[in-house]
Amino acid sequence: MINFVGAGPGAADLITVRGMNLLKKADVIIYAGSLVNKELLNYAKMNCKVYNSAEMTLEEIINVMKESEECGLNTVRLQTGDPSVYGAIHEQMRELDKLNIKYDLCPGVSSMFGAASALKAEFTPPEVSQSVIITRAAGRTPVPSSESIKSFAAHNATMVIFLSVGIIEKVRNELIEGGYKTTTPAAIVYKATWPDEKIMITTVGELVESAKKNKIEKTALIIVGDFLKNTENKSKLYDRNFTHEYRKGESD
Ligand code: SAH
Repeated sequence: MINFVGAGPGAADLITVRGMNLLKKADVIIYAGSLVNKELLNYAKMNCKVYNSAEMTLEEIINVMKESEECGLNTVRLQTGDPSVYGAIHEQMRELDKLNIKYDLCPGVSSMFGAASALKAEFTPPEVSQSVIITRAAGRTPVPSSESIKSFAAHNATMVIFLSVGIIEKVRNELIEGGYKTTTPAAIVYKATWPDEKIMITTVGELVESAKKNKIEKTALIIVGDFLKNTENKSKLYDRNFTHEYRKGESD
């Protein structure tokens, strides 16, 4: 059995209990060495074989999985954040399908949620934004043309941009061309939940200067939107006049 496990955003104790238990039972661990906290490897059994996928190709990863499967071993593929977000698990699962090897997924705390906690923010404040756009800029990896940052910017919703701080100038230009004001609040969150986490609160117009000044070139999220402003808008959920399944409103 192969288990794809989300390692969480950085801090070792942000893995799920299920993920931790799978690590403890693993005979083989293939972890994404570039972003996974190595402290998590302390859960590995004494005789567990550990591979760093940062140095491996897809073929090599699949070969390790295949060999351990043939020996009846438990394999954990430990990926940063949540495996379903830019985790390149699709291609791994398709190869495993071809080989008739069973697998399961264990979710993790994505860095976008690690970043929200670092910012002490809600992505979806009432009447400000009720949608979160998760995207990246087209760089060496292309993005479908219908999904440009410019086109998404027209919504003025909360936007979380992965994998793009290296081309932040292009991101800023598209955000503005697409419809955010230069004064729209923005944040760059570097290594959310790691000990060397850095949070930069800025505006869309100042994104490039902020990244340059703080020398942020990778492992960061660019997060944009009015959710970063303080608002007095309140949700219906705790409104005393609002009735729902668990509570009768005062005016009813
Ligand atoms: N599956 C991961 C994302 C992998 S793609 C997740 O759910 O978070 C790698 C990108 O994620 C990085 O380039 C960066 O944009 C972002 N990232 C990963 N960990 C991060 C962290 N701790 N803080 C900020 N951004 C992070």
